[in-house]
Amino acid sequence: MFKKILIANRGEIALRILRACEELDIKTVAVYSSADKDLKHVKMADESICIGPAESAKSYLNVAAIISASELTGIDAIHPGVGFLSENDHFAQQVTSSGYKFIGPDSETIKVMGNKITAKEAVLSAGMQPVPGTGRINSEEEALKMADEIGYPVIIKAAAGGGGKGIQICEKKEEFLSKLSLTQIEALNSFGSDEVYIEKYLQTPRHVEIQVAADDHGNVVHFFERDCSIQRRNQKIIEEAPAFDIPQEKLDEIRKIAVNTCKKINYKGLGTFEFLYEDGNFYFIEMNTRLQVEHTITEMITGIDLVKLQIMIAAGQEIPLSQEDINCRGHAIECRINAEHHETFIPSPGKVTEFHPPGGFRIRTDSHLYSGYTVPQYYDALIAKICAHSSDRISAIRKMRVALEETYIEGINTNAPLHQRILIEPNFVEEKISINYLRDILNIK
Ligand code: ADP
Repeated sequence: MFKKILIANRGEIALRILRACEELDIKTVAVYSSADKDLKHVKMADESICIGPAESAKSYLNVAAIISASELTGIDAIHPGVGFLSENDHFAQQVTSSGYKFIGPDSETIKVMGNKITAKEAVLSAGMQPVPGTGRINSEEEALKMADEIGYPVIIKAAAGGGGKGIQICEKKEEFLSKLSLTQIEALNSFGSDEVYIEKYLQTPRHVEIQVAADDHGNVVHFFERDCSIQRRNQKIIEEAPAFDIPQEKLDEIRKIAVNTCKKINYKGLGTFEFLYEDGNFYFIEMNTRLQVEHTITEMITGIDLVKLQIMIAAGQEIPLSQEDINCRGHAIECRINAEHHETFIPSPGKVTEFHPPGGFRIRTDSHLYSGYTVPQYYDALIAKICAHSSDRISAIRKMRVALEETYIEGINTNAPLHQRILIEPNFVEEKISINYLRDILNIK
């Protein structure tokens, strides 16, 4: 097992990883930007090193600074967390060539699955059905022709995209070329590559994903599904596990395909296959080759610590469970609390004057907040994940309502009122949801 791990991330996920390391008796190194010296995990880690100024490009995305911090502290592995460098194949390769273990799949796998076009090709050969669409777009004429063939509306997406960025929906031919160039510009600015592709725009699918894990010894297991349909601007805000209202034979089939795909692509570590589910079909959209924000609810329904498992797999250990040992109990919901206005989504950084997280039986709050903490303006708006677990979906919803009622965050705006609105809204309660829930039901753009 590793002796010392460097956590190349910030916020609640850095704290989550630190807790797993401590339970495994592994020493921790926190790296932080100058805006983040007051983060909880920075104070708790065995060692902490400032790796640069507030801007992510100069700190959390600064590969050289992170490798230098590793050399200074004598670590043996790096956990990249979520976002930042977690799906950057160049970083994974640098970590490995510097003599450290990257906690995640190898850089070649990250490269193939990190590009949504090559990822679709890879899973297709293993039997997964991607959303109908194109490969790489080479010219405007070709793109127009392909969009015609697919049929409007279409969605134009950055191959290297993530975090809901680099996505444009195009309703009709007249607006196609302007949306194409808009996506290319956004892709280049956000991901350093203007490679884009086109997919059929599915009108009312649900976002359903499968959590998997694979070790170096040929063992591959899944941990059931999550429904992440409730999104704002293509970003998840509520997740649930397990997914609901899907015939058992469809679930059995997609789980088998997910496990087989891991074997076929020789996948190692934790991963998630993401699908759009519509009219009884699963359409693959992408794979995340890392820990996901919403792993918490899978932990609640299975009782398995996925971060500890991820670290154990990276250390070369065997997954200590067979598929039969992994059971799904009850229903769990996660609400992502963001520092933003609940209707306009305008970010709301600033000082948190009071913070009282909810508690109680089967309530889990993952958060780095404390009273007096200042949310910096530079990073993702996520400040807390509140999770509720109960025997069934309705009682989990009721539990979550109580938890949100109890949550008290003063000094900044949060999206908690939006969550409260959704949790009592009849369509949500009755499982009548899709990825366009906010637009269609709540009239929020
Ligand atoms: P990212 O990597 O940025 O999260 P994804 O490819 O996972 O991008 O898509 C994010 C979200 O965008 C999906 O959950 C879904 O809501 C929407 N989306 C993506 N592709 C399509 C599609 N073909 N039709 C309809 N919605 C889509």
